[in-house]
Amino acid sequence: MDVQCVPCDYDPVFEVQVRSERFKFNASHFVAFRGFRERLHGHNYTVGVRVFGPLSPDDGYVLDFGDVKKTVRGVCETLNERFLCPCRSDVLDIRDAGPNVELTAEDGAFFSIPLGDCAMLPIVHSTAEELAAMIWHKTIEAFGVDILKKRGITAIEIAVAEAPMQEARYRRKLAGFAPGAAPIPARAPNAGCGANITPAG
Ligand SMILES: [Zn+2]
Repeated sequence: MDVQCVPCDYDPVFEVQVRSERFKFNASHFVAFRGFRERLHGHNYTVGVRVFGPLSPDDGYVLDFGDVKKTVRGVCETLNERFLCPCRSDVLDIRDAGPNVELTAEDGAFFSIPLGDCAMLPIVHSTAEELAAMIWHKTIEAFGVDILKKRGITAIEIAVAEAPMQEARYRRKLAGFAPGAAPIPARAPNAGCGANITPAG
């Protein structure tokens, strides 16, 4: 009797989801685009992470929860208790005025905020969607894209909730990701940004 091996096509992708009490930041912002500006207000943001990849035969993990938590907590801390300044805005005039950042909106509204109270972000609008993309980039760069690729991680998703049941998600494959790339391209070179304003990461 011939015994034949059944071809094995066992090639699953695992998904790991991490949420934590400490994946949060409290911050102020306003969304501004052509012809519209929200009033300054704040949210208690929460962040979630999903990691997609194969199981490591060595340790049985996709990725160590502890490493994921440490990285995302660090990113949240850079945003906590800050004004989320969208440095690539095409409708805000954003200037470095010594110890303060000054913002002037289309409607003439003027804000002067200590630089240390701001998170200067390379985004166009401080929406949950763009924040999720920005946090994705910060997380990948803090973790190290080479480490993730070596583990075979294929994609990562970041969720940002402004409030319960109000959440944006950004999922992206790691293939083709180039460190240093802007999460959200500027609409026009230097639009809205003073010459000395540098987005942080
Ligand atoms: Zn808001």
